[in-house]
Amino acid sequence: MHTSAPARVPAPRASDTARPGPCVLLKHGEVFLKGRNRQLFVERLHDNLRTALRGIGGSTWIKTAQNVTVLGGEVPREALVERARRVIGFNSVEPAVRVPSDLDTIVAAAVDGLSGPEYDGATFVVRARRRNKQFPLTSSRVEAQVGARVLAAIPGLRVDLTRPDVRLSVEIDHKESYVSWERLPGLSGLPVGSSGRALVLLSGGYDSPVAAHRAMRRGLACDFVHFNGAPYTNPASVYKAYALARELNRYQPPGELHVIALGKAQKQLAVAGAGRLQVVAQRRLMVRTASALAARIGGEALVTGDSLGQVASQTLANMVAVDEAATLPVLRPLLGREKQEIIDEARSIGTADVSVLPDEDCCSLLAPRRVTTRAELPHLRVLERRLDLDEVIEALLDSAQVLRPGMDDEEPAVPA
Ligand code: ATP
Ligand code: MG
Repeated sequence: MHTSAPARVPAPRASDTARPGPCVLLKHGEVFLKGRNRQLFVERLHDNLRTALRGIGGSTWIKTAQNVTVLGGEVPREALVERARRVIGFNSVEPAVRVPSDLDTIVAAAVDGLSGPEYDGATFVVRARRRNKQFPLTSSRVEAQVGARVLAAIPGLRVDLTRPDVRLSVEIDHKESYVSWERLPGLSGLPVGSSGRALVLLSGGYDSPVAAHRAMRRGLACDFVHFNGAPYTNPASVYKAYALARELNRYQPPGELHVIALGKAQKQLAVAGAGRLQVVAQRRLMVRTASALAARIGGEALVTGDSLGQVASQTLANMVAVDEAATLPVLRPLLGREKQEIIDEARSIGTADVSVLPDEDCCSLLAPRRVTTRAELPHLRVLERRLDLDEVIEALLDSAQVLRPGMDDEEPAVPA
């Protein structure tokens, strides 16, 4: 497991955690299934949450109950919700109120929550859970009593046990209880970093940012590498890659973006007679260079946005030819996805608006009119022997530019 944790924000003061008021309940996702090392996953999840809270503009605190993280602070609850929904590893994000564990106060909080005009005529159900088995009422008695008293206080409401509009949830802990009536979906998945570190080959298209996001959701912390066609193309694709990496970094402790100008090496391949092999040969050069870069920066795998058969360069034979050149495993989270699914996902994670912008992709530079769908390894090897690959890769790595999207333009951390 990758061990470098993000910088820690100081632990909360005890007095902060004792105060009643608005908070957010974060239900754990797959971490919940972990056995003996669950604590490590939860710590990673909390480190990532603290990183996501940086610069929020006020003190915050987090505490864990069983399979739930409670988040609060001296900032508007909506701001906490917005940050928490970008942290991978929570199944749901529930705006809530924290109150002392007694029935009158619980009912008062529920009545307060459901009094708004938006709940006029709504149906509801109460679901209670006791973590504190010493609490004098059983869960079903709590449900019945809270339900009856809320109904009496707000005549516009009705009870519906099967398909309610609102599920009022009451979680009774030892000293305090949590009342919530809204549940927003989280991103689920494993905490970023818990599966290690990967280097994503990030182009300007729809696919690779979605692949990166999928990799993050399986616990991989991601750095990014973008190849552009400089000096033969304009920098539009670099701006796009930067904007995409910045968007993706909002879901993880920020990773670096490495930008490598591939134009000259592409030309060398063309001059060496690549012909219909040009695109696959370029892709092999990319994964060779990316493997070497990953080795330098602690990446354990590469990630690409390939989807099997999507375009000529992504046939099985061509993927095999690309893999043969990589010295690290090439992960392809989108292998079995269709283009429309990928575009829909790009919209939901917020990368589509950047991907749609025009650019000059380095892959189309020098691309033959017909790309081979079955690149033969012997032919590729003959071609590559005409170049001094080690030297080419060394030069590419030396010229790489390192950018830090989403790190340098952030407000400093505010101590809790
Ligand atoms: P995308 O939508 O991600 O650009 P694509 O459908 O255009 O993918 P290709 O251009 O064949 O497909 O690229 C396949 C994968 O190779 C990309 O998803 C990406 O991971 C990697 N890749 C392609 N071009 C570049 C580039 N210029 N820089 C970095 N990685 C690239
Ligand atoms: Mg592309």
